Amino acid sequence: MRALRVDGLTELPAPAGDGEALVRVVLSGICTTDLELAKGYLGFRGTLGHEFVGVVEEGDLAGTRVVGEINAGCGSCGRCAAGDSRHCATRTVLGIVDRDGAHADYLRLPACNLIPVPATVSDVAAVFVEPLAAALAVLERCPIAPGQRVCVIGDGKLGLLIAMVLRDHAPVLVGKHPHKLALAGVESTLLDDAVTLGRVFDVVIEASGSATGFELALALLVPQGRLVLKSTFHGTTPIDAARIVVEEVTVIGSRCGRFAPALALLETGGIAIGPLVSETLSLGDGERAMQLAAEPGMLKVLLAR
Ligand SMILES: [Zn+2]
Ligand SMILES: [Zn+2]
Repeated sequence: MRALRVDGLTELPAPAGDGEALVRVVLSGICTTDLELAKGYLGFRGTLGHEFVGVVEEGDLAGTRVVGEINAGCGSCGRCAAGDSRHCATRTVLGIVDRDGAHADYLRLPACNLIPVPATVSDVAAVFVEPLAAALAVLERCPIAPGQRVCVIGDGKLGLLIAMVLRDHAPVLVGKHPHKLALAGVESTLLDDAVTLGRVFDVVIEASGSATGFELALALLVPQGRLVLKSTFHGTTPIDAARIVVEEVTVIGSRCGRFAPALALLETGGIAIGPLVSETLSLGDGERAMQLAAEPGMLKVLLAR
């Protein structure tokens, strides 16, 4: 089968058994995390990709169209026993940590990670379950009360999805690209003008994917505000720790979300996914697709089989 790995497109045997479900991938999405992994983030060397929809090839779910939770836990530690493998110390993560990913013709995941996709959710929408779940995870880690003012920094795919899921909280979205900012359907401000918004936000969500977003976030937060960090990138962020101390800022990390609520939200049609797709290429053009995905102004690049 074909597989798009950190070092390029290659031919590999289909992944072997191990009691896990074999999934024929139909469509996968290139995430900014894939681009960071290719730069050396986390030292991953395998097949990239963690956003996919596919069809189960064998076993109880054979023939079922599915998406898959990306964290595969050990199944026996306290975290796993509590039903949340996202922090299992020995977990593998699809296309990110010690597990080959979805930019291939086939992948394997434990059957318990797979979730059937309702017929009303298109393949394109289903590929967005993982990033949409990550957007919803903000509220799991940082519940927002009515009337609290919210700012989202970053008009990339994740920033847009976060602004969309927080629409009821009337967030202000900050970014560099007017055409992207317009997609979220919320109030927005260009990055260069953002400091003029002032220190008025109770919650700032940093999803810019760059280290400079942290400094801007601190400039926008009220004292004792909450700063939610969503960006994962290869590199480190310089931090003005004294500022966090003096202003008594609460810093909250947030990563993966749960798939079921994200699928339910896609079923309602309440999130407009179509405009978030910039290009669809075939897996055979995977290397070019990665280059395209890295171009400024690009949103989601999909890989069809
Ligand atoms: Zn992702
Ligand atoms: Zn575990």
